[in-house]
Amino acid sequence: MKWPLSKKMETSLLACAIHKGEKLTKYCTDHNHLCCSKCVELNHRLCVQVAPLPQAAGGKSTNFKNLSVSTENTLSQLKQCQMYQEDRIKSLKVSYKEHERLIVDGLRVNIVSYLRECETSTVNTTHKHMQYPISEMREEIKYLLADFEKSTIKEKKEELNLKQAPLKVVRNSCIRLHYELFHLHVAIPKVLGKELSFIASKKCLENIQQSDIFIKENFSNKVFTVNGKSVHNVKMPSESGTCQITAVCALQNGQVLVADYYNKRVKLLNQKYRVVSHLDVRDGPWDMCLITPTEVAVACYIHGVQFIAVSQSQLAKGRKLKLQHYCIGIAHNQGDLYICSRTALYKFTLSGELVCRLYKDSSADST
Ligand SMILES: [Zn+2]
Ligand SMILES: [Zn+2]
Repeated sequence: MKWPLSKKMETSLLACAIHKGEKLTKYCTDHNHLCCSKCVELNHRLCVQVAPLPQAAGGKSTNFKNLSVSTENTLSQLKQCQMYQEDRIKSLKVSYKEHERLIVDGLRVNIVSYLRECETSTVNTTHKHMQYPISEMREEIKYLLADFEKSTIKEKKEELNLKQAPLKVVRNSCIRLHYELFHLHVAIPKVLGKELSFIASKKCLENIQQSDIFIKENFSNKVFTVNGKSVHNVKMPSESGTCQITAVCALQNGQVLVADYYNKRVKLLNQKYRVVSHLDVRDGPWDMCLITPTEVAVACYIHGVQFIAVSQSQLAKGRKLKLQHYCIGIAHNQGDLYICSRTALYKFTLSGELVCRLYKDSSADST
């Protein structure tokens, strides 16, 4: 059996979305807009096709199946947008925590070295002279801690809040739009009567349009538009087997680097995508990323990371990072290297110092 529409929902359907306390009475076909008497008076006085609701509802009937499909589509996009914002909020928090830990470690080193300094300077002093250095020491440590609390931590927290704020605004709007549209979506099948059905479907359409505009403005930067594609052969005459391209890096001058796993080499393609240079690496490269406009880092499985420099259409081996684990994925962001083993994600400095492990899942060989 169908549950009837609640009185509350019915009232909210009949209410003008713009003018509080006003009931919808007309429909303007010129603007595709549900109107109360104030709407008509203020914005639709000159419109040609403004009809009372019962009359407007008597016209062409709505295709509820199509409406339901596009509603579900918009609802799922709103959810995706919300999750995307939440992921970004969370990852900012993670990097803040990690930063905080680094600062705390730095502070600890400072205090320890200060204490050591005090220790060596008091080693040869007699007991009655001890009182002064200890109270001085206490003051100094207090000062270090207060300064740390006041400036560093607070500053970083404020910075985090500032970065998170716009993401939270978008997330909250997603939640609100989803909530409103979802309620209409659930109400529509329960609506009885032509007029109320008409209002519900128009309100639903308006919400979809509003949400679509919102998604376009706040979420569309994630979407690529493919303008065309072309296929290029990167096989060299000396290679007998197939090439397996595991990574591609585009250089600023239009040249492209490709990592060929089966042939264990990195190839440089010119602007016409012809191989003009190559460099063999010890193991099949699993991944590659740009470090500077003329340098890439290649993930070489058990052989760590191999840096390669590009200059004047030639490739040259640079330094190498030895790792304690497999290296199957690599990315560079603002001076940090993110490296995946088969079961964990690590953060390194460019000089190869391990900063921290960001994630681990050893529930299988490869996770
Ligand atoms: Zn109104
Ligand atoms: Zn109008």
